[in-house]
Amino acid sequence: MQNPRDCGVPAAVMDYDPPGNVTVKYVGQLGVGLVATTNIERGDPILFERVIAVLERDESISATIYNIAILAQLENMGPWFKNYFYKLQKRHGDGTPDSLGAKFDLACIPCPASVTAGGKMIRVAGSWCSRTNHSCTPNAHQMLSRGLDDKAKEAYYVAVRATKVIRKGEEVTVAYDYVNMQPAARRQYMLARFGFVCRCHVCDRPTETIEKCFSALHEDIAAIQTRYFSSIDPVKFFQCIERIYLLHVGLDFLDIRGAQILEQAARFSAYHSDKGRAVGFLTLASPLYLFAEGVQGPNAVRATSWKDDPSLIPGYGTTTKGLSKESDFRKIGPLDAVGLAIACMQGIQEGQYLSLSYMADRRVGAHYGGVNSGMRGDADEEDAENRAKNLKELIKTLEEEKKHHDLERLEGSQLIANGNSSSTANKKKNGGKNKKKKKKKR
Ligand SMILES: [Zn+2]
Repeated sequence: MQNPRDCGVPAAVMDYDPPGNVTVKYVGQLGVGLVATTNIERGDPILFERVIAVLERDESISATIYNIAILAQLENMGPWFKNYFYKLQKRHGDGTPDSLGAKFDLACIPCPASVTAGGKMIRVAGSWCSRTNHSCTPNAHQMLSRGLDDKAKEAYYVAVRATKVIRKGEEVTVAYDYVNMQPAARRQYMLARFGFVCRCHVCDRPTETIEKCFSALHEDIAAIQTRYFSSIDPVKFFQCIERIYLLHVGLDFLDIRGAQILEQAARFSAYHSDKGRAVGFLTLASPLYLFAEGVQGPNAVRATSWKDDPSLIPGYGTTTKGLSKESDFRKIGPLDAVGLAIACMQGIQEGQYLSLSYMADRRVGAHYGGVNSGMRGDADEEDAENRAKNLKELIKTLEEEKKHHDLERLEGSQLIANGNSSSTANKKKNGGKNKKKKKKKR
C-alpha cells in the first residue's frame, strides 16, 4: 500500500500495451501517476486488467496464508507484471524478509468494500491500476470483478471508469477510501490507514468553507442514520437529504458517495410506500452508479432494477405513511432545483408527510409559503431561506476553488511532461535519498 510509484520502476520501462487513453507519468512533485492522453468522458472505461486480489490482511490472516494467496495468483499474471513485482523492494527495512506479502503491500491499492463480502476491503495489484493515486475528490472509480481466464481458472479483474470528465493531461485518481471527516482529521486517518499524506485539493487547501461543509455533512449524515428520523419525522429526514445532496454537488462528490445518499433516500421512501419519491431518488442515483461501474456493476444493476420496480426494495411498504405512485414522480418532472425541493418537502412542517402530487400542485419549491395548513411561521421561513442562501454561497465558492485547483494541477502536470527527461534523470541520480519525500501521495 506504500506508494507504488516509489518502487523504482520508471515510467519508460512500461513497455506493454497501454490502455489507450492513459499513460504513466511523473505528476508534480508527487511521483508517478496515471495521466489522460485524451479527453475522457464521464462513464468511459479507462482500464480493464487482470489483477492479484487479496483480502485486506488483519490478525486473523497469517503471513503464510497471505503469501500463498498472492503466489497462486502471481503465477498467472503476465511477464511484465511478474518482472515488475519481483523487483519491488521494501525500502524501509526493519529486518523483516522481503516477502511476497511485503512486495504486494507496496504495489496494491484498495478496492471499495462494496464489492467484498463481510465489509473487508480487497487489495489489488495490477500493471496499471497500481499506478492510480488517491484523491478525496477522485475523477474515477475502481471496481473488482471475478471471472474465469482462458484456462478456466478463477481470475480477478479491475475496471476503472471515469466518474467525471477528465481532460487530456489531467491525472486519473480514485478514492482509496471515502471519508466524511474534516480535512485535518481526514489527513490523519489517511496517514494512519494508508501511510501517506493526502495532497488532493480538499486536503491541500482546507478553507473555512470546506471545514463548514464537512461539519454540516458530518452532522447531517449522522442525523439521517438515527431511528428518530426514520420512524417519527420523515420530513426532517428528506430535508436533511437535500442538504447533504447539495453539499455533495458543491464538494464535487457526485460519484458513488452521491449515489449512496440518494439510494438511502429511496430506501426510506420505499419503507413508507412512497413509490413516487423512491423512483425519483433512484432516477438520480442510477446514472451515478452507471458512470462508476458500467451497466454490469452490482450497485448499478440493483439501482436500475429497483427504479423499475421499487417494491423490490427490502422493507417496501412497512408503513403507508407516504403512499404515492410512480405517476406522482412524473408529475413533478426531473429532480432539478424545484423538483428536488418538492421531493424533499422543503417548506413543510415537521412531522407531515405530503404526497408528491399534492406538493407539485402547489409548487412548494417556488416559495416556501405555498401550502396553507401547517406551514412554518415567518421566522422559520426566513431561517430556511437564509440557510438555503448560505448553502448556495458555499457551493459557489467551492466550485470556484475546485476550478482553480484543477487548472493549477493541469498546468503543473504539463510542465512536468515537458521537462520530464531532465526530472527523470535527476530522480535516478538521487536514488533512494529523494524517495522518502516522494512518498507523498494524494
Ligand atoms: Zn485528500
